[in-house]
Amino acid sequence: AATLTAKLQRDGVGHHIAGRRVESASGARFQTISPIDKSVLAEVARGGAGEIDQAAQAAAKAFRSWRDLESEKRRAVLHKVADAIEAHQDDIAVLECVDAGQPYKFMAKAALRAAENFRFFADKAVEARHGLNLPTKDHWNVTTRVPIGPVGVITPWNTPFMLSTWKIAPALAAGCTVVHKPAEWSPLTADLLPRLLAEAGVPEGVLNTVHGFGEEAGKALTEHPAIKAIGFVGESSTGSAIMAQGAATLKRVHFELGGKNPVIVFADADLERALDAVIFMIYSLNGERCTSSSRLLVQEDIADAFIEALAARVRRLKIGHPLDPRTEIGPLIHERHYAKVCSYFDIARAEGAIVKAGGRAHDGPGGGFYVEPTLVAGAHPRMRVAQEEVFGPYLTVIPFADEAAAVAIANDIDYGLTGYVWTAEMGRALRVADQLDAGMIWLNSENVRHLPTPFGGMKASGIGRDGGDYSFDFYMETKNICLAK
Ligand code: NAD
Repeated sequence: AATLTAKLQRDGVGHHIAGRRVESASGARFQTISPIDKSVLAEVARGGAGEIDQAAQAAAKAFRSWRDLESEKRRAVLHKVADAIEAHQDDIAVLECVDAGQPYKFMAKAALRAAENFRFFADKAVEARHGLNLPTKDHWNVTTRVPIGPVGVITPWNTPFMLSTWKIAPALAAGCTVVHKPAEWSPLTADLLPRLLAEAGVPEGVLNTVHGFGEEAGKALTEHPAIKAIGFVGESSTGSAIMAQGAATLKRVHFELGGKNPVIVFADADLERALDAVIFMIYSLNGERCTSSSRLLVQEDIADAFIEALAARVRRLKIGHPLDPRTEIGPLIHERHYAKVCSYFDIARAEGAIVKAGGRAHDGPGGGFYVEPTLVAGAHPRMRVAQEEVFGPYLTVIPFADEAAAVAIANDIDYGLTGYVWTAEMGRALRVADQLDAGMIWLNSENVRHLPTPFGGMKASGIGRDGGDYSFDFYMETKNICLAK
């Protein structure tokens, strides 16, 4: 870590446009701060409309030859990107821990998942243009797909490398070129990605990275006429802003947004397994993950015993330096986010909920943005702690009487990303899954991903799906060609 951060402090982080590292024309920069000890990790180029325009032009210039590259060749070069990611997996993990505060224990494998994203979509590149023939008596109808053009990808600060590759790999496999605007709170690994693509032999201009703030570089990207679509991962309110900003240029948008996901535990569930899954899904990665199960709905008959067992486990979670392999909870990403999470400790008390574990800031190593993993019980479904996304190691428990009440509480919220159900009765598991307003549901399972399956949310949690062919639907235009026989 010391070697990597010394290099960053010396070199800083620049934009990557048309295969070259560049600074902003104005010379503007911002600092990225370590959540561990609040030290300056690097000076980062602060892009605006000018740099976005250069990057969009570079992506437009590179588009035709990338689109027309034989799909087998595209497949081969994207596999080489995956090789390069694997070769640098530990650097990526360490940089993310230092930049974002998420524990090494969970981040060690994140780069491998990023490599898997590239491998999966590399293999799909050969079928991207596959289509249908819908003949009539007098005509052939060949339905095919073509890449939409240069696209913008805007990503958040949580597991930033993995999430960026989840959007960028399918765009490149589809034959699009990309302008990436990474999150300003965790820019370090985004600086590595274009270098790895260059090392793998991806032509210049195919991926361009412009650092900067959402309201400047991000906004300019969503308004740029050469950019045909925006793949966005972030907060629901930012999704609304992007939709408005992109209206004048009729941007196609794909949104993966926030969540306040229910995990429903019935009295007949395997309670030991449910307990493990509940702990993992909200307290791993500091709870800074969109799919975390941040609302626990537990059946009244077992609620007291389950909450006590949970509280005992939460109190034992190890808070520490993110690079300590034993650490389960690291510092939160940024001072503003830390203040937000801490505010929910007071909100819980003011609303009359019961703080069963945690509920305070913590003096972690380095004096950074540490909080105690927190369990809030006795919540009413309409309380703010039961409705709002905290995005930290913070679980709110709501008891329920029966199946109908569980479904009603789970759905009484603006979000609809994921849902988790624990019960021994398969009929009930499927009934509840059918009624939940959520894009992804796991039954008697924690969150596991299989890349061909659709990923995305309903309601305020998103628009569109990623994964498998769903990603290509977004990054490509469907075209019908009709020929007289
Ligand atoms: P955010 O919305 O604040 O920022 C995300 C990105 O959008 C950043 O790069 C930011 O600079 C940019 N941005 C901000 N304002 C913009 C604007 N007006 N125009 C264009 N770009 C703009 O989100 P965050 O705080 O970085 O990330 C946390 C959020 O992301 C949480 O709500 C979380 O649930 C969500 N998230 C969702 C998923 C999912 O798959 N559904 C995955 C990860 C994170």
